[in-house]
Amino acid sequence: MYRPLLFIVVPCYNEEEVLPVTSKMFLNKLLDLIKKEKIDEQSRILFVNDGSKDETWNIIVRLAKEDEHYIGISQSRNRGHQKAVLAGLMEAKDKCDITISIDCDGQDDINAMDQMVEEYLNGCEIVYGVRSDRSTDTWFKRTTAQGFYKFMSYMGVELVYNHADYRLVSSRVLDAFTDFKEVNLFLRGMFPLVGFKSTSVYYERHERIAGETHYPLSKMLSLAFDGITSLSVKPIRMIVGLGILISLISFIGVIWSVSVRLMGYSVDGWASTISTICFIGGIQLLCIGVIGEYIGKIYMEVKKRPRYIISERIGDIYENSPSTL
Ligand code: UDP
Ligand code: MG
Repeated sequence: MYRPLLFIVVPCYNEEEVLPVTSKMFLNKLLDLIKKEKIDEQSRILFVNDGSKDETWNIIVRLAKEDEHYIGISQSRNRGHQKAVLAGLMEAKDKCDITISIDCDGQDDINAMDQMVEEYLNGCEIVYGVRSDRSTDTWFKRTTAQGFYKFMSYMGVELVYNHADYRLVSSRVLDAFTDFKEVNLFLRGMFPLVGFKSTSVYYERHERIAGETHYPLSKMLSLAFDGITSLSVKPIRMIVGLGILISLISFIGVIWSVSVRLMGYSVDGWASTISTICFIGGIQLLCIGVIGEYIGKIYMEVKKRPRYIISERIGDIYENSPSTL
């Protein structure tokens, strides 16, 4: 029977507190899947150190020396979660049949992997892990996340509701994904664009095992902004709509004031003139800001800077190549 070779891709940034615990959980799951003859024995857990400033990389090196199932790569500096996941997926692409990306903090239920692999064996090439219950998230995180998904769908971005970056992807999909060359990454919105047969697997989200989230409100807003601007031009269309609406209102206003004047009445109203100017000025600045955001994104894209740079690799599969590249 066909047993796909799996790479579990785990981005890690300053996770010295959780890694010793969750690495064991990942290994147990991997061995369990191997034992059940669901995946190939050469399957691996690939940690991506995202330029951590603590002991994370040293822990990964130690793990790789302890057990052959652990391997790791290190980014030359911190580049953020999305790029860390991408680095891991691209590293794994030619070495395995399927990848499952998962956060290293124990929040995503590893037991959903059984069903993910099952769905792959049934012919799905992308399997989205979807949180069926967010009660362990704070009220604030839950509400903002819900608002975010609603807003994204209003913006015309196709997203799988309540799916973050816990997903199974086949190497065939990853091959196609290499042609998505943007620097401004929003993976959960990009994978649906690749196509191929996909499905969702539901799981309960746990609490972080230890440590703290790296996504405070400011970073969440910036991720949402990146998501909108990288996947939708609807804000620019909305500006056009707003422009047409305001022009129409002004046109009616002009006709009204001229007619009133021609009828011999005086049109006074310093207050209304000033407030209209301020209102239009504010809207104009807002619109320029939105357009500027897109121009900024274009600027970043045309430079074509690398999205990740790997400085080190560790693990048995790299034994014949230098560990520092
Ligand atoms: N992460 C990363 N680089 C960063 C920030 C986070 O690789 O710059 C990793 C982090 O180690 C974790 C995952 O991305 O495995 C998700 O981060 P976190 O748990 O802080 O986010 P949350 O689950 O609270 O949204
Ligand atoms: Mg987390």
